[in-house]
Amino acid sequence: MFYLLNCFIQMKILLSNNDLNEALYDVSNLGFVPTMGSLHNGHISLIKKSLKDCKKTIVSIFINPTQFNNKNDFENYPKNNKKDLSILKNLKINFLYMPKAKDVYDYERKSPIRLRKKDKILCAKFRKGHFEGVIDVMERLTKIIKPQKIYLGEKDFQQLFLVKKYNPKKYKAKIISCRTIRNKNKLAFSSRNKLLSKKQLKIAEKISKEVFFLKKKLSKSRNIKKLLSDKKKRLTNLFNIKFDYLELRNTSNLKISNKVKNSRLFVAYHINKIRLIDNF
Ligand code: AMP
Repeated sequence: MFYLLNCFIQMKILLSNNDLNEALYDVSNLGFVPTMGSLHNGHISLIKKSLKDCKKTIVSIFINPTQFNNKNDFENYPKNNKKDLSILKNLKINFLYMPKAKDVYDYERKSPIRLRKKDKILCAKFRKGHFEGVIDVMERLTKIIKPQKIYLGEKDFQQLFLVKKYNPKKYKAKIISCRTIRNKNKLAFSSRNKLLSKKQLKIAEKISKEVFFLKKKLSKSRNIKKLLSDKKKRLTNLFNIKFDYLELRNTSNLKISNKVKNSRLFVAYHINKIRLIDNF
């Protein structure tokens, strides 16, 4: 009986704020999974967590223009709506929100988002304006959707850290952090992996393994700084990549750390024009 009922539960596709307000007016206990589409196993794990925890689940697909600090990167961001729709239907989510930019940016902020100086590290240093765009869009989506819980991945640890810190508390949405999902070669699933050639994908997998084992090695090392710098040089020469950073940082405040306990090893690098990030 339950199975039969489940077959008739249709995912509602909401293409505007009007659709959304109509569909959500009496919904409580709502879990929200924000995405930029081109869905993969990482996204799916967040969605499954929401489906398990919450009565209703809404997923958004919105490629937010304001968080791209490079026009080409925005234009080339992978898209696959057809496959995304089929994944979401199979997962039996309740709502898919696919707004236009005008739905999300339907009001002007009173004051611009400004990162504090101590937050201008890691990706904030290398992608100017990126997190200001992320924080702004997350505030807007939270205000529009009013979820009880928002599911974010540790794959983008700095994003998770900053959204927790800057998303206004008045909306009372609890941020739930979700572990990173990887393939068997330790490479984190990422929409940007779809931009890599087979050869580049192999390189990304090798780098993931190297950084994963480096983290293990760090706990036995007396000179973490040197180990990180040597590894950066070695990988740069070996794979012809360009690092933005390879840094060990404390997970609770993101300050540079010299011990492995309560720390993560953060990495960002470019294979040709494709920028990948991860943390272990
Ligand atoms: P994106 O579509 O890249 O904006 O990602 C949407 C959400 O999925 C973010 O909260 C990401 O941190 C999360 N995410 C992306 N990749 C992974 C992964 N491999 N494992 C877990 N979560 C992920």
